[in-house]
Amino acid sequence: MPDISIWNKCNNNCVMCTNSPNFQNEIDSDLLRFEKIIQNIKSFGKIEETINLSGGEPTIHPDFLRLLKWFRKQFPQTKVVVATNGRMFCYPKFARECFFINDVIFEIAIHGYNARMHDNITRVKGSFNQTIAGIHNVLKYKNDSHQLEIRIILIRQNYKYLDKILNLVINKFPSVDRVVLLFQEMEGVCGENFKTVGITYKEIRKYLPPLFEKWEKKFKELRLYHFPLCTIDFNLWKYHWRTLRKDEVTFLPSCNKCLYKKYCLGIHKDYLKLVGGKEFIPIRKKIPIKTEDDFYHPIVEIKDLNQSR
Ligand code: SF4
Repeated sequence: MPDISIWNKCNNNCVMCTNSPNFQNEIDSDLLRFEKIIQNIKSFGKIEETINLSGGEPTIHPDFLRLLKWFRKQFPQTKVVVATNGRMFCYPKFARECFFINDVIFEIAIHGYNARMHDNITRVKGSFNQTIAGIHNVLKYKNDSHQLEIRIILIRQNYKYLDKILNLVINKFPSVDRVVLLFQEMEGVCGENFKTVGITYKEIRKYLPPLFEKWEKKFKELRLYHFPLCTIDFNLWKYHWRTLRKDEVTFLPSCNKCLYKKYCLGIHKDYLKLVGGKEFIPIRKKIPIKTEDDFYHPIVEIKDLNQSR
C-alpha cells in the first residue's frame, strides 16, 4: 500500500500532524515536480493494491490534477486514494475538474463539530468553513465511481466530542461512503505535542461502545483504525482494520500469549515510547469470531455478543 507524499507544503498546520516540524523545508520541492514524481514512481515497478496520495496537502500541488490523471491512467487496476483536508474543493472549478477523473477515493478529515474546535486544531482560521464547503462540492460533483470517506483523528482536543462531530457529519453529509475514527499516530508534530494532544487508549475506551451503538446503523459504514484489539471491547472488533505499515508497529513479548495476535494490528512504536505498554494485556478468553481471509479486515463478525471477557 504505497503512501506517496506528492507535496510537502500544507495549507493547514494541524497540532497532530504526523509529519516532522521541518518537513516543509526538509524536502527539496524540486523532487516533487511532476516529472520527478513520475520518474520515481516508475522505478517502483508494478503497484498492486492501493496508491495513497498524501502530503503535506496533495491538492495544493501545482500539478495535482495532471498527477491524479496520470496515476489513474498508469495504474488502471489499482485503487487510488487522496488523503486531503478538503479545502481546495471549496473552489467549484477545481472540484468539477477533479471529479472528471473517475475511480478515486477521497479521504477528508473533519476535526471538530464547529469552526472553533476544527480551526483550533488546524491552527488556520477559516479552514473549517472551507472543508465543509469542499465536502458539499465533493458530494455535488462525484459520481458512482468515486468514494468519499470522512476521517476523524482522535486527539485530546476532540475525543470527548465525537458524538457531536458524528452528528454534524450525519446532518450535513448523510450520504458519505464511510466514516473512520482513527487513533492518533504519535509521530512528527503529534509526538512533539504529545503533552497537549496525546491521549491513551485507556482514556478513550469507554467512549466507543455507546458511539457505535448509536451511529453504526446511521452511516453506510463505520471503521476504527489504529486500535490494537485489546484496547477496544470485543464487540467492536468487526470495526477494527489493520492499516498501519508493518514497520510502524510492534508486539510486546507478552503478545505471544494472546489468542488473537494473528488478527491484531500491533502497537505503534511511538506509542510505546511515549506512553508505555501497560495497557496491552493478552486476551486469553475465547471469543466466537467469524473471520475472513482479508489481512486488513480479518474479523467480520462476533457471533455471540452476550459473552464477556
Ligand atoms: S495483547 Fe498484543 S496481540 Fe493481543 S490484542 Fe493486545 S496488542 Fe494485540
